[in-house]
Amino acid sequence: MINIAILTVYDVGHGNYNSISTDDDQILFDLGAGKHLNKCELNTHVSNYFHSSDKSLLIISHWDVDHINLILALSNNQIRLIKAVIAPIPPSTSTCKRIIKRFNDESVELFLISPINKLLKGVEVELGLVYTYSFLGKEPIDLYIYRSSGSSNKNLDSIVTYVETNNNRILLTGDNHYNKAIKYVLDKSKGLSTPLYTVVPHHGGEAGKIDSLSWKSHSLYKLICSRSDSNKYNHTLHSVLNKFPWCVVEETNGTGSKINVV
Ligand SMILES: [Zn+2]
Repeated sequence: MINIAILTVYDVGHGNYNSISTDDDQILFDLGAGKHLNKCELNTHVSNYFHSSDKSLLIISHWDVDHINLILALSNNQIRLIKAVIAPIPPSTSTCKRIIKRFNDESVELFLISPINKLLKGVEVELGLVYTYSFLGKEPIDLYIYRSSGSSNKNLDSIVTYVETNNNRILLTGDNHYNKAIKYVLDKSKGLSTPLYTVVPHHGGEAGKIDSLSWKSHSLYKLICSRSDSNKYNHTLHSVLNKFPWCVVEETNGTGSKINVV
């Protein structure tokens, strides 16, 4: 059987909005865009990318604005197209409260996941497997959802997602760190040698230590960076991408969305 999953990294400025779709299912990973975009620009991204056929599972990596702000630009009908949401328990900000209310008002099922361990000073943040799903359509895919322990670093207090098809693998970290993905996800996986596709953590900015040899041993094939030149942090850092000289590297940066048949 030929299994095809399509990874799309939407071109939404310096934010994150990805999807993994097959003929039967769609998983959205984050629904955000650049945090300085105005309402009109956010609406344009929604109308360009969020299609009425998208009856989806939405996974939110963490609650930073650039990973969630498109949710507030969705219409009520579009919110109802989301079957369920899996997210870390949100911080108690007014934006997060508005988003949760929108889901509740449209009866979207919410799975808000606590950290796997409490935040403890001096103790390393870990990732633990909290959900696995097998989508048994024409193109079956296995989905693994990891939750971190508590962290005062918002980028680390998050969810990481890993997908396997018969042909390829996809790792989506949001802004979580390279070394966490290696230690807690890839090193504990089945050790498959099918090509691995990853969206570059933290839009190409600092995101922990990079052990190039480990990434190579896990068959990392392609890195896609969801970023925009307009960011004030000077991401993408060349010091980051230089660690992956064998990899195919792509970036959104106003070039149109990156669609990869995997
Ligand atoms: Zn981000």
